[in-house]
Amino acid sequence: MEIRVLNILHQTMADGPGFRTAIYCAGCLHHCKGCHNPHSWAMDGGDAMSVDELLDIVKSDSMSNVTFSGGDPFYQVDAFTELAKRIKEETEKTIWCWTGFTYEEILADPHLAKILPYLDVLVDGPFILEQRDTTLLFRGSPNQRIIYLHGTPEDDTAPGTIRIVHR
Ligand code: SF4
Repeated sequence: MEIRVLNILHQTMADGPGFRTAIYCAGCLHHCKGCHNPHSWAMDGGDAMSVDELLDIVKSDSMSNVTFSGGDPFYQVDAFTELAKRIKEETEKTIWCWTGFTYEEILADPHLAKILPYLDVLVDGPFILEQRDTTLLFRGSPNQRIIYLHGTPEDDTAPGTIRIVHR
């Protein structure tokens, strides 16, 4: 299984708490006005990388946790689910995932929701330019939420965030 990847950042501190390996995928159909990353929209952008290749990159950094961003990883949910599942089976790393879908939209679609058991934190919702707030942690507008999908956020807790326990 393959993921179209635009970029991989190593030991970034801008994509969630602590050091993270951030996988930026290609493809987003939300087309939010004022998107910081419109070059990521093309579904056929970037380069195809196998789940095995990406897993090796993630595992090669023993100190970094993992971030999925884009683009929107939920447009490649099958391959990202496989990657997330294997990260959880083969490492102790946490996974933060950014998406332009809302949590409620994802829950209503079993095809999208299948990745949720393997994610630790979901940062959800489209960017709304009219509500832009540069003081927000890890988000561009206040409609976006940092959602803890499981009961133990460990050291990924960020002040001022909401928690939703996924069942
Ligand atoms: S969801 Fe993110 S990447 Fe997609 S258009 Fe909106 S801000 Fe840009």
